[in-house]
Amino acid sequence: MIQDVLNELHSRFASLDEGEVASYIPELAKACPQDFGIAITTASGRIYEVGDTRKPFTIQSISKPFVFGLGIKLLTPERLALKVDVEPSGEAFNAISLDPDTGKPRNPMINAGAIAISAQISAHDPLGADQLVLDFFSELAARALEVDQAVYQSESETGHRNRAIGYLLRNSNIIEAAPEPGLDLYFRQCAISVDCRDLAVMAATLACQGRNPITGRQPLSPDISVRVLALMGSCGMYDFAGQWLHDVGIPAKSGVAGGVLAVVPGRLGIAVYSPPLDGFGNSVRGVAVCTQLSHGVGMSLFNQSPQAGNTIRRVYSGSQRTSRRWRSERELALLQPHRDRLRIIQIQGVLDFAALEQLAAAVVALPPQTRVLILDMAHVTELPPSSDELLNRQLRLLLERGLQVLVSRAGRLAMFQAAGQQLEGLQLLDQLDFAIETAENLLMEGTSGEQPISTAADSEACFLSRLPSESRAALEALLLERGFQPGEAVINRGDPGNELFLVRDGLFSTHIEFEALSGEPHRTRLATFGPGMCFGEIAFITGNRRIADITAVDGGRCWVLQRSDFENLQERQPAAALDLLKALTCDLGLKLSQTSVQLSRSELV
Ligand code: GLN
Repeated sequence: MIQDVLNELHSRFASLDEGEVASYIPELAKACPQDFGIAITTASGRIYEVGDTRKPFTIQSISKPFVFGLGIKLLTPERLALKVDVEPSGEAFNAISLDPDTGKPRNPMINAGAIAISAQISAHDPLGADQLVLDFFSELAARALEVDQAVYQSESETGHRNRAIGYLLRNSNIIEAAPEPGLDLYFRQCAISVDCRDLAVMAATLACQGRNPITGRQPLSPDISVRVLALMGSCGMYDFAGQWLHDVGIPAKSGVAGGVLAVVPGRLGIAVYSPPLDGFGNSVRGVAVCTQLSHGVGMSLFNQSPQAGNTIRRVYSGSQRTSRRWRSERELALLQPHRDRLRIIQIQGVLDFAALEQLAAAVVALPPQTRVLILDMAHVTELPPSSDELLNRQLRLLLERGLQVLVSRAGRLAMFQAAGQQLEGLQLLDQLDFAIETAENLLMEGTSGEQPISTAADSEACFLSRLPSESRAALEALLLERGFQPGEAVINRGDPGNELFLVRDGLFSTHIEFEALSGEPHRTRLATFGPGMCFGEIAFITGNRRIADITAVDGGRCWVLQRSDFENLQERQPAAALDLLKALTCDLGLKLSQTSVQLSRSELV
C-alpha cells in the first residue's frame, strides 16, 4: 500500500525534467540528471524505497543539521550559541550572511554557520574530528559511511568562496585559530557518500528523537534532535524555507548534490534523490515529491487531527470489576455497599500534555464519594519524559485530596520505576487484579473497626458450619491440621487429588499459565481463598488429577480431609458423607456463578 504510493509518486515525477545539476563543484557536474530515488523509513524501522535509492551521492549541505547536532553534543548549546545564531537568513546557502555587529553567521544551515561549527569541532578534537564526524554519521545511517575522495578533492580545490567565508569568520574571531582545519572538516563532511536509503534512516533517527529505529541506538539526545529539527524547519531550505513550511509543513534539509531529507517528527523520515536543482539550490523533484506527499497523505505539522477523546479508554467502578480474591460472606457484606467508591481509569496512548489534560478532566469528573482510584496504565504506549512533572503533579493533587491512589501495569514506564520513592502514598501494582484486590481491602478497612479482612470469624463461619451438627462432628473428627510456609506449594498440577483442604488461616492462591494473545507465556491468578473456604474439591470428588497449582501466599494452616478417611466415612456414616458432598456442590455452584459474573463483566471492561 505505502509502496504503491511511492511507486506512483516516482512515476509521476520522473518526467519532471526542470532544473540544473550543480556544476560549481566540478565533480558534481558528473551526476546523472535522470537518477531519481525516494525512500521512507518509519519510526518502527520499516523502509520503503523506489527508484535509484542505492546510488551513492554526496550528502553536501544535508550534513549541516547533523553537524550542528554533533556540535551541541560535544560543546553544549551555550558554547555553540556564541558562534552562530539561529535566525533564517532569507539568502542563498553560500551567502555571506553575518551579523554586522558580532560577525556571527545567521544560522547553522548556511555555509557560514556550518563552517563556524566545523571549526569548533575541529578545534575540539584536532586529530580525530574527521573520524568523529564520519562515525557519528555512520551511527545515524546505521551503516559505515565513507568520504567520496574525488568530490572532497574537487571541492577543496575550488571552494574559494567557502575559504573566503572561513577567513571572514577568522577576522571576527568566530573562528579563533587558523581557519583551514575547520574548512577541511567542512569539505569532508559535505563529501560523505550516502544513498537515498541512508538519508531516510538518518531522517527517521531525527523523527525518533535521536534514536535510530534500525539499530535502537541513540546518537542524539531528544533535546538536541528537537533543536536540529527546529533549525531545519526555519532554515533548512535556504531562501525557500518559508514557502516550504507553508507548502510542505515539515522540517527538511537539501543538499546541492540533489538530496532532500525531510522529517515527520514522531512518525517517519523521507529522502529523495534527484540531482537537478532549482534556483534556490533545492532538488526540483525532491521539492515536488515532498509537496505532493504532504498534501496527499496529510503530513504537515500544522495539520494535526484533533486530540479530544482518545486518552481515557474507560472509567468504571469497583462493582463492574471485582478481584479474584474470593471474599467471605462477612467481607462481602462489608464491601458490597462501597464497591462504587473505587473507580478505575483506564488510560491509553501517548501521555503527552494534551493527554494529561484529558486525564485531569476525567479526575475532576469522578463522583464525589470516590475514595480509591486505580490508574490502569496497561495501554499507555508512551510517557514522554517531558510529561513526568505534570503527571507527578496530578498524582500529588489526588493524594492531597485524600484519595488512595493505585497505579497498575505501569512497570515498563520509566517514571514509575522511581515514583514509588518520590510519591509517598502511591502504590504500584503490576497486575490490575492485584490493584483491585488492594483497593477492595482499602475500602473495607475504611468502613469497619478492626480486622475487616480474613479473621478467625471467617474460619468459624466456614461452610461446614451449615452442616447438621452430627455430620459436622463426624467430619471434624477426621480433619488433620497442616501448616504451610510462605510460597509453599500445597497442590501441584498433575498430582492425584486425594485431599480436600479447608483454610484455617492465611491465603491460598491458584494460578494457571497460558499463552497470552502476544504468544508470550503468561501466568495469572485464578483465585485466592481465605479462612473458611475450601479448595481442592474438584479432583477430590472426581478422583481425577489436579488441574491447577495452589500455593500458600504468606503461609497459613489448613484442615485436611484424606480421601481414605472420607471413604471410610461413607461406609460408617453415609449421611455425614452425603451432607459433605451436598455442601461441596453448593460451594462449587457458588464459585461457578461468581466466575461467570466476573467473566461477563470482564467482556465489558
Ligand atoms: N559543499 C557545498 C558548498 O559548500 C554544500 C552546499 C549545499 O549543499 N547547498 O558549496
